[in-house]
Amino acid sequence: MDTLPATFPAFPEFAAGEVWLVGAGPGDPRLLTVMAVHALRVADAIVHDALIDARILDLARVGATIRSAGKRGGKPSPHQTDINEQVIALAREGKKVVRLKGGDPFVFGRGGEEAVALARAGIPFRVVPGLTAGLSAAALAGIPATSRATNHAIILATGHRAVDDRSAREWEDMARTGQPIVLYMSISNLGDIAAAFLRAGMAPDTPATIIASATYPGERILETHISTASADAKAHGIEPPAIVVIGSIAALRAELLPALLGAA
Ligand code: SAH
Repeated sequence: MDTLPATFPAFPEFAAGEVWLVGAGPGDPRLLTVMAVHALRVADAIVHDALIDARILDLARVGATIRSAGKRGGKPSPHQTDINEQVIALAREGKKVVRLKGGDPFVFGRGGEEAVALARAGIPFRVVPGLTAGLSAAALAGIPATSRATNHAIILATGHRAVDDRSAREWEDMARTGQPIVLYMSISNLGDIAAAFLRAGMAPDTPATIIASATYPGERILETHISTASADAKAHGIEPPAIVVIGSIAALRAELLPALLGAA
């Protein structure tokens, strides 16, 4: 970034005692925003989620404090209030604090809750958006989020909660819109979610593409259908983090793949 032209806007000052809530994108450091790289380079302290590529943390200046505050489903992890308190304490010590979150900080990552905690504590903060996994992993795999021939809307949904009566109705309502659905955090509940979609009339052969560990060396892409997605994911040993793209947009991949660079 030393090569940015003189016309490139100056970065806002990162003052002592501020928190910047920064999105890290899906993983590959090259998909960070320029603002995120700047923030990581000047921060005194970085408190990061579990899903952060080590090469992103290498951007920190020598001597910066780097702490993991990862929350991973099923594993012991710090409570959200502890994370908030840690970030607030660092800011009150006069540090320039980056709270680094995977993807976009305000998409399914509790970034909204963290921002509320900062606002209530009177800590000045800035949001640096990032590429959200659901859209960027799909794009990199050759799946356009929208195209005029297939859809005029797209649903981003989290599947981390077990499906109960109330959420089953919500899943059925989503399926009835006929719009493509991108699921985050859904691998363990995919069977139940798919069953709700099928009950709502989604065609069993609706394309479903599972993209796991997008942009990481272990990236996996599995093309399947909604009726078999959960069983196929298990059979192929697909593990989180993964997104599932459901609907006609997933099928566009086949047409793009022959000329698409960089896709697995
Ligand atoms: N704020 C993040 C989402 C946090 S929830 C964002 O905007 O992307 C974490 C979920 O994001 C994971 O369970 C998975 O569904 C998805 N995810 C994050 N990184 C991913 C990656 N590299 N490949 C596939 N899915 C990813």
